[in-house]
Amino acid sequence: MKEYINVIGGGLAGCEAAYQIAKRGIKVYLYEMKPQKFSPAHSNKNLGEIVCSNSFKSNALTNACGLLKEELRIFDSLLIKCADKVKVPAGQALAVDREKFAKMVTEEIEKNENIKIIREEYTKIPEDDAITIIATGPLTSEKMSLQIAKLTGNDKLYFYDAAAPIVSKESIDMNIGFLGDRYGKESDNSYINLPFTKEEYEKFYNELINAEVVTLHDFEKKEIFEGCMPIEIMAKRGQDTMRYGPLKPVGFTDPRTNSRPYAIVQLRQDNSDGTLYNLVGFQTNLKFGEQKRVFSMIPGLENAEFIKYGVMHRNTYINSSNLLDETFNLKSNSNIYFAGQISGVEGYVESIASGLIAGINAALKYREENRVTFPEDTVMGALSKYISTPNNKFQPMNANFGILPPLEEKIKDKIKRYEQMSNRSLKACKNLHNMV
Ligand SMILES: Cc1cc2nc3c(=O)[nH]c(=O)nc-3n(C[C@H](O)[C@H](O)[C@H](O)COP(=O)(O)OP(=O)(O)OC[C@H]3O[C@@H](n4cnc5c(N)ncnc54)[C@H](O)[C@@H]3O)c2cc1C
Repeated sequence: MKEYINVIGGGLAGCEAAYQIAKRGIKVYLYEMKPQKFSPAHSNKNLGEIVCSNSFKSNALTNACGLLKEELRIFDSLLIKCADKVKVPAGQALAVDREKFAKMVTEEIEKNENIKIIREEYTKIPEDDAITIIATGPLTSEKMSLQIAKLTGNDKLYFYDAAAPIVSKESIDMNIGFLGDRYGKESDNSYINLPFTKEEYEKFYNELINAEVVTLHDFEKKEIFEGCMPIEIMAKRGQDTMRYGPLKPVGFTDPRTNSRPYAIVQLRQDNSDGTLYNLVGFQTNLKFGEQKRVFSMIPGLENAEFIKYGVMHRNTYINSSNLLDETFNLKSNSNIYFAGQISGVEGYVESIASGLIAGINAALKYREENRVTFPEDTVMGALSKYISTPNNKFQPMNANFGILPPLEEKIKDKIKRYEQMSNRSLKACKNLHNMV
């Protein structure tokens, strides 16, 4: 066994992983290709650079990302500690001064005696017995991507994310929605169908074609449009195009009217518990606020809770649902861990969380101690379970209450329910923290 652990990538996940290993008294070699080489979205030579929004989302415990941050605080996350110290006013959200944040993370890592920073592009995954965490992010360098593809198989490494929005089942109005597949082929719960009248469809169509979209980076435009088409672009081809595509009503009878609807949106079950459904064919570049506004016009989604918005952006990630276990350890090579966006989590805080889990477990493996899995009723545990559960439609996931197991007691009020789920999670985290 080597006398150090490699961490590849000095971004959010890599820095957190390096810190967690180092604080357990183990040496870390942290590789970062900047400033020698920058990805198309990075520009700051410091470690821990945040590439887009300066918000780490809500701090409220009734928000799953707020709860995740609190869980991370219990486990002494370096990056959340830095974020808390350089926060800027942003209401309930934890927003940071991005320059100060990256500087502070870099200083903390540099002064840590157990961490050696090596500023070079890492191009070859070791075949020896070095424990290695790969945290090269959504814009992993090309040479490293080739290495990862060799390790995982080409068909398990993806280069962009074209995901449709996901809503919670309980927020769908089932007085309007009905179950079943086209021509009644399936009578199980796999699909929920939301029927439009002509008038409803036309209103929806007009809002969709005029809705605000996000500006893509130049490097993203080409790949995405070759892959699959955003729903708003399809709509702009003509008023009826969607009705001959994903909104085709053929083979459906609306039980309320006993006739074929004018158009139909299908929602497909997204998790094994059946609490989440995705909008089939609704990959989109609409801004998140616009997705909520326009997609809530779909009959049955008037009060929908959007667990995840649709995205289309450059994103290198592995199909972790086949490849990793709950500790972010590669099943086929127990010396390799993945962390960050490349491991199938989505978002800044989620990337930090995966770095923390992989870092703690890599340290335990180094010491030949038992691995630690986070309880399912914590956001960290639920994310770990999500990324490691077989799923042939795997898409990266962000923190949300829909992936946590329901409470034993049914609580109708959403805020009260989330409060209870938060209490349950923080209690579990405190218990576990005493053990690791
Ligand atoms: C354009 C874009 C915008 C995003 N905006 C948001 C947002 O607003 N909010 C949000 O929550 N999430 C956002 N994300 C998603 C995600 O949360 C961030 O990308 C986050 O930084 C991921 O953390 P990470 O540690 O996995 O990767 P990164 O933070 O990107 O870190 C990876 C590091 O690895 C280095 N690296 C890459 N290849 C090599 C190599 N071969 N050798 C050595 N070093 C290497 C890179 O230089 C980088 O420093 C965005 C993603 C992208 C691509």
